[in-house]
Amino acid sequence: TTTTLEQIIDIIKDKSVELLHLQFVDIEGILKQITVTTEQLEDVVEGKMMFDGSSIKGFSPINKSDLYLQPDLATFAVLPWTVENGYSEARFLCSVKNPDGTLFAGDTRNVLKKTVERAAEHGYTISVGPELEFFLFKTDEKGYATQELGDRAGYFEPSPHDTGERVRLEIYRALKAMGFTIEASHTEVAEGQHEINFKYSDVLTAADLATTYKWVVKTVAKKFGLHATFMPKPVFGIAGSGMHVNMSFFEGSENAFFDPSDELQLSKKAYQFIAGLMENVKSFTAITNPLVNSYKRLVPGYEAPCYIAWSASNRSALIRIPAKKGLATRVELRCPDPSANPYLTFALVASAGLDGIEQELDVLAPINEDIFHMTDEERAFKGIDNLPGSLVEALQELESGVIASKTLGEHVYSEYVSLKKAEWNSYRSAVHAWEIENYHTKF
Ligand code: GLN
Ligand code: MG
Ligand code: MG
Ligand code: MG
Repeated sequence: TTTTLEQIIDIIKDKSVELLHLQFVDIEGILKQITVTTEQLEDVVEGKMMFDGSSIKGFSPINKSDLYLQPDLATFAVLPWTVENGYSEARFLCSVKNPDGTLFAGDTRNVLKKTVERAAEHGYTISVGPELEFFLFKTDEKGYATQELGDRAGYFEPSPHDTGERVRLEIYRALKAMGFTIEASHTEVAEGQHEINFKYSDVLTAADLATTYKWVVKTVAKKFGLHATFMPKPVFGIAGSGMHVNMSFFEGSENAFFDPSDELQLSKKAYQFIAGLMENVKSFTAITNPLVNSYKRLVPGYEAPCYIAWSASNRSALIRIPAKKGLATRVELRCPDPSANPYLTFALVASAGLDGIEQELDVLAPINEDIFHMTDEERAFKGIDNLPGSLVEALQELESGVIASKTLGEHVYSEYVSLKKAEWNSYRSAVHAWEIENYHTKF
């Protein structure tokens, strides 16, 4: 949906919008905002709002710190939870610009725009439907997050087990009021785990929606005294949270991945896209699975992938082809988790798929057996490789590949690598609870 300035002015009057939050993301995809009054609207839409980029992670050095925010009018939304006493607040998502008006290279939203352009050169628009899972935890008297799960409901369990139901209803209402098309809302496999699904859209919109979704889920949960987390594996021994990425390429109104004459109803381009993902996935796992904790989710037994294989149906595979076909034909990549920056994640997935198409890569045979129950020898025989087992391995793969540096551009690539290396070093030198438990009294 495109929104015009006139429509925005009408909504501002109609809803008595007092404040405008100008939002953007840092290199990790964390939402930032500066708030201005509605009287500033004209300057805001002309991109005249300046801020200090040196205080944002992965942005600019102190000597070139002036950056500008260019709001994307299509992202205008009144914040449903701010409507009180007749007044309300609204937000825009913004792209970051240099003082000369060019797009700032350190803004990951701008990075995704480059991939959108690359796809357009092939005549493709990228369509994405992400599925973000999250956990709800209780908070203490002070309102701080505890490690006690919000509810005990398992997969698809209705009330009375699901105390998260009420919260999900309010999250749904807030998202809907902000323009989301919601398709489903349910408890996930693990206790305290939830998922709300929204309809696919063009890739930039999908990344904006994923970013907004995380913020809304956390904000509404907090109103119920709950803490929502998108940390990939908050509790050992139960399922973690994924952000499955469903992607397809469209040529005009046609789904370029659909071919009714093929056995799996997939086009040649779809197979090349899958081959591109398989070829490059190890080199971009550090982006799609960015935390030390991300690799604690990628272990056998929890519907999260750890081996590089594809299948039409198999939920132990990294890449799955959901049953829906025709316009809904898509490839589902199951490794990404919701702590990843969605702009970078979608850029890397699309870029790897485009590589597969450009290089006309051949795809390996699908694996329809349960890969978790194969022996190491069986997997080796079938040529099934592993995803990186830790953040440090993923960083080594990232640096030895080219997909990340070419997709992210020099600025984001070098900032990202140094940020993640520092994170690994901090983790590697810390002494963890597991070590105390296993070594402290034994040695
Ligand atoms: N929680 C699983 C994951 O980590 C996915 C479960 C599902 O949606 N079927 O990816
Ligand atoms: Mg789902
Ligand atoms: Mg799910
Ligand atoms: Mg899925």
